[in-house]
Amino acid sequence: MRSISEDQKNQHVDVLVIGAGAAGMMCAAVAGQRGKRVLIIDHASKLAEKIRISGGGRCNFTNLTATPNNFLSENPHFCKSALSRYTPQDFLSLVKKYKIAFHEKHKGQLFCDDSAEDIIRMLKSECELGKVQWRMPCQVHELSQSEHGFVIQTSMRVWTADSVVIATGGLSIPKIGASDFSYKIAEQFGLKILAPRPALVPLTFDANSWEPFAPLSGISLEVDIETGLKKDRMVFREDLLFTHRGLSGPAVLQISSFWQAGQSLRINLLPEIDVAQELIDAKTSSKKNLGNYLSTFLPARLVEGLLIAHGFDGNLKIADMQDKRLRLLGEKLNRWELIPNGSEGYRKAEVTRGGVDTRELSQQTMMSKKVQGLYFIGEAVDVTGWLGGYNFQWAWASGVAAGQAL
Ligand SMILES: Cc1cc2nc3c(=O)[nH]c(=O)nc-3n(C[C@H](O)[C@H](O)[C@H](O)COP(=O)(O)OP(=O)(O)OC[C@H]3O[C@@H](n4cnc5c(N)ncnc54)[C@H](O)[C@@H]3O)c2cc1C
Repeated sequence: MRSISEDQKNQHVDVLVIGAGAAGMMCAAVAGQRGKRVLIIDHASKLAEKIRISGGGRCNFTNLTATPNNFLSENPHFCKSALSRYTPQDFLSLVKKYKIAFHEKHKGQLFCDDSAEDIIRMLKSECELGKVQWRMPCQVHELSQSEHGFVIQTSMRVWTADSVVIATGGLSIPKIGASDFSYKIAEQFGLKILAPRPALVPLTFDANSWEPFAPLSGISLEVDIETGLKKDRMVFREDLLFTHRGLSGPAVLQISSFWQAGQSLRINLLPEIDVAQELIDAKTSSKKNLGNYLSTFLPARLVEGLLIAHGFDGNLKIADMQDKRLRLLGEKLNRWELIPNGSEGYRKAEVTRGGVDTRELSQQTMMSKKVQGLYFIGEAVDVTGWLGGYNFQWAWASGVAAGQAL
């Protein structure tokens, strides 16, 4: 039979990390390798599901061009310290150490050649090097402060810890285990939360106004997409995808993080061509009808759908059309303005904007300024990356910052 003191010893750890996702595993590995006795728990039964499904199963694990400008936050300076101390090259060195094959796909985005499982295995091995203990599935019933740190009551047992790291992420994709745990704990300890909302998410439109565009579902093309005005104006050149309910693809995911309810989107479907001028010039040089002429620049199915939706007859000869009509069509193609009625929500959002207010945390360590020993890392914090590997880079960098400070 074990003595009480042995049992007490077994229930105490230096660091308890809640959430075995990207940030939590990275933090646990770093702290463990620095000699801390670390326990990581997660309420899911499958490890790091979000890494597994990321990047279409190949995990876009970082972006070589990442700078603080690729992140949104009410406090844009906060992420600088952690990002500068753990860079994409640092994570890449780890990937190379594990001989994980990777490739650059688009604009600095690095993906695994084989599978996101490679990244999960790598992080698990790094945790093993740090002798990190695991318990999952394990639910936290209560987290409270004690004289010497924290008491964590769970579905398995009670643990005490000098420090607790909240790495439970945001609200995106509830069906694989996302929860509001981080916000609840922040609230419990009196830390401010900035209203969470879905980001990197497809946008939707009122069913009636979208009806003419719904048949275009599946069509994809490179566009310029913008929202906001003056200093809030944001523009991306990326691929746009038409869906049954609205718009998706990298262009829309990127702009969705900046779009505010009620604002319009402006889409340039032919960013390299002044369509009105092109069509007016073509009146004297081309015998083609409108539909055929535009199909030299855009997919024929898209041209057909757009002309119907905007009330143009594709069979008319360009030469027979008034300049005024051609200018109106040019406007529709070069500056198509439309107002989404919402988004596909957390069910489809890749990340959550908002979260624990960074002004509550130390930018060096991620520890709460109010509560000694309580840390918040990863997506739980109000730092949201653009699409393209930036969110994982934040998970790694904030995890390392905390791991080194614990
Ligand atoms: C479909 C999809 C694709 C993506 N692709 C990419 C990509 O290619 N590149 C990129 O940079 N980013 C990508 N992201 C975003 C990226 O996955 C996240 O930003 C990142 O995983 C956040 O890391 P995290 O550790 O903070 O949270 P997570 O990785 O979400 O980990 C949180 C962990 O906490 C656990 N948890 C939650 N609540 C509780 C609770 N109450 N108790 C105990 N445990 C709990 C969860 O089970 C989970 O294991 C993608 C996201 C999605 C949804």
